[in-house]
Parts: sequence; structure tokens; C-alpha cells
Amino acid sequence: LPTVNVAVLGATGSIGTATIDVLHHLDRIDETKTWNLWAASGHRNVQLLGELAGQFKCPPHQIVLSDPKSATEFAAGSTLANTQIKTGAEALVEIASAPEVDVVVAAIVGRAGLESTLAAIESGKRVALANKETLVVAGSLVQATLSNMASSGSRAEVLPVDSEHSAIFQCLGDKERGSASENTCKPRKLILTASGGPFRNASIRQMQDATPELALNHPTWDMGPKITIDSATMMNKALEVIEARWLFDIPAESIEVVVHPQSIIHSMVEFEDGSVMAQMSPPDMRLPIQYALTYPRRLACETPALDRTRQWDLTLQPVDRERFPALELGFEVARVGGTAGSVVNAANEEAVGLFLEGKIRFTDIVPACRRALEHHHFEPQPSLTRLLELDRWARAEVRKQYAT
Ligand code: NDP
Ligand code: MG
Repeated sequence: LPTVNVAVLGATGSIGTATIDVLHHLDRIDETKTWNLWAASGHRNVQLLGELAGQFKCPPHQIVLSDPKSATEFAAGSTLANTQIKTGAEALVEIASAPEVDVVVAAIVGRAGLESTLAAIESGKRVALANKETLVVAGSLVQATLSNMASSGSRAEVLPVDSEHSAIFQCLGDKERGSASENTCKPRKLILTASGGPFRNASIRQMQDATPELALNHPTWDMGPKITIDSATMMNKALEVIEARWLFDIPAESIEVVVHPQSIIHSMVEFEDGSVMAQMSPPDMRLPIQYALTYPRRLACETPALDRTRQWDLTLQPVDRERFPALELGFEVARVGGTAGSVVNAANEEAVGLFLEGKIRFTDIVPACRRALEHHHFEPQPSLTRLLELDRWARAEVRKQYAT
């Protein structure tokens, strides 16, 4: 059987470990392909990465611990005879572009995932993209790179792992159906659903006093800490609006957000004839991860079916933009593009870190991003170097605001 070599970047995270589950599952049920973990990365979680690598009959050829101290620790304790152990951000780029690798799962959190994701695209891989921050920071560069790659005959592609974008991708159907020849009906709106997070019904006052513990308590999804806080502020949905803008090359005006507390409708597409297609499934990331790996094939998935023996409530509500100002910010960034995404993303990463350390209030996070956006010198067509400079600048700005 042909083998699919997969590199999982961020294997020790919430998406990473779910991906490892999916690989084991696919290897059991796929009758036409063998699924192989060729490389895996973690940052500091030495023990978990060792356990995950040890689960495979054929352990990964390369392991990266991007944190150098952790790499030394891993190497000292490793019993994996044929595995190379590397460290540093360059090593992530190396495994993302290794010629043996077919699919790269980009599941590092935050801007730290940017270079390796870009490298995977530039090396012609299929990228299963969880790391939405790459598109938020450098969406136009990703788009330009993909179109250059396509014109030089490369098969590089970015497929969504984010459940909303996977839903939209599924509703749009095959590329042929989505991209509308003259007689087909085009998509008119992409409608992203949002659970509303733990503070869906909270007052501004309650949010001001919210502790990290409360904010980390997501009602429907079990995810890493950064995206869980992003869901509580709804910055996650803002980042997803920007992600959708670049992934589907659609203007911000054609994107909408609705609150859907049950997290069963993962998103919808409204077509020009008024028809709305929705994708539904239980809230479990293994489905969108698997679809990004096997697309265009749909294989049986380990996720349980929706329980239809009880009454079903599927609620859709408008977002309260006053309590959740992040959303407006997201639409603005999606509209203007340029350097805005890099600045807002960096300010958000920094502010979320400060909130989790107990140094700022929950309700300081979004205003910190807004201030960074407004104080930066906007450029419509920045280089990667400029985007990374602004990333550092925005982080420093946020720290400066809150230095006591
Ligand atoms: P986690 O925090 O659970 O995992 C993050 C991963 O990135 C870990 O493997 C971690 O390593 C690694 N990492 C952390 N910092 C660095 C760094 N500086 N350099 C290299 N690697 C690093 O995050 P999630 O899995 O929740 O999220 C990952 C991405 O997927 C995010 O972009 C998120 O927005 C997106 N996403 C997540 C969803 C979810 O359900 N969790 C849903 C949709 C999108 P270690 O732990 O070893 O230190
Ligand atoms: Mg999502």
C-alpha cells in the first residue's frame, strides 16, 4: 500500500494529540493507504512526546523539541534508536519541508507556527492547517505563495482543520462546485457559528472580574489555553473571520457570525439562490482533522454520532457586539489586511499571556489589541520581515501599557 508520511507540528497539544489518534485510526481502517508519523514536534512536553512517538510500530524519523533544554532532556531519556532529535525553530522548518513528508499538520499555537507553515507550503505539501494565526498574520503572503506555487505546477494546498472552516469547505463542495462556472450558483455569505464561550450570558461587570479559571472553562470544546481564552473574548471568532477571508478569498463583507451555543452546526454557506447549507456533527476535532488528511475521501470516523433519541435544540442568535468588541476588530482587520493582522495577533497573544499570569483583567485584552492596531504605522503590502518586526513591536507595546 502507498504510504502517507505525516509531520505533526505541535503534536503534544490538543489538536496534535487528536491528530495522533486519527493517524492510528486511519492506519486501522484505511484499506488503500498506510499512515505513518514521519516527524513530530513539541515545545516543552518531553514526556508526552516520548509517549506519543513510542505508540507507533515504526517510530518517527525525526523529533523536534523546539525548546533547547527540553530537547537535551528528551535525547537523554530517549530509547528511540532510529529517531533523530533536533531543536530550534529552524528544525521545525526542516521537518515541514523534508522531501519525505507528504502532509504537514500545522498545530503549533500562535505566531510560533508561522515559519514552519510557510515552509510547508513553499515545499509543495498538503498543509492541514489548525494554526489560524498564520493566516491572521500573513494571509496575503500565504495566498500569493499558493498562487505562485500553483503556476509553477506545485500541488501545495492548505486545507482547514478549524471546525468552522472545515464546515464551510465541506458545504462549498468540490473545488469545481465552489468556484462556480457560469451556470453554477455562487456562495453569497459564509456564516461562521460561535459557541459564545463561557461568558455568552455574562454581564460586562462579570467579565471585568473574570478569573483565568472561569475563562478557561469552555462549555462545549476542550482545547489549549490560548484558544480557550480567545473563545471567551470571542477573539477566536475574530481570528476566524480573518482566516476565512484569506482561506476562501472572500471579502469581509461576505462573512457573518452567529452564536450557536450547542456547537453542532459548525458553520454555514448561503448561496445566491438563498439556499443555506450547514455542516453538523458533534463537537469533536477528530472529524475536521481527518477530513483535511483524507480529502477528497470521506472515511469512517471515530467520533460518536449525534444523539437523535432526545429532543434537539439548535439555537441561532445574533452576537452582542457591545459585550464582545473583539468581533468588530476582526472584521476591520479582515477588511484592511496589510499589517493589521500581525499587530492584532501579537497584541492578543501577549495580552492573553498577561491575563493568564494574573497581571491584567479579562476585559483589558481586547482594548490592548485595539490600541496596538490604532498606534501602529499601517502598510498595505508588508514583507514577511516587516510583519515579524511589527509582531515584536506590538508585544512590547502591550507590555509597556501594563508595566507598573
Ligand atoms: P495547545 O496549547 O494544546 O498546543 C500547542 C502546541 O504548540 C503544543 O504542541 C506546544 O508544545 C506547541 N508550542 C507551544 N509554544 C511553542 C513554540 N514557541 N514553538 C513551537 N511549538 C510551540 O494548542 P491547541 O492544540 O489548542 O491549538 C493549536 C492551534 O490550533 C492553535 O493555532 C489554535 O488556534 C488551533 N485550533 C485549535 C483547536 C482546538 O480544538 N484545540 C480548534 C481549532 C483551531 P508543548 O505543549 O510541548 O510545550
Ligand atoms: Mg474554530
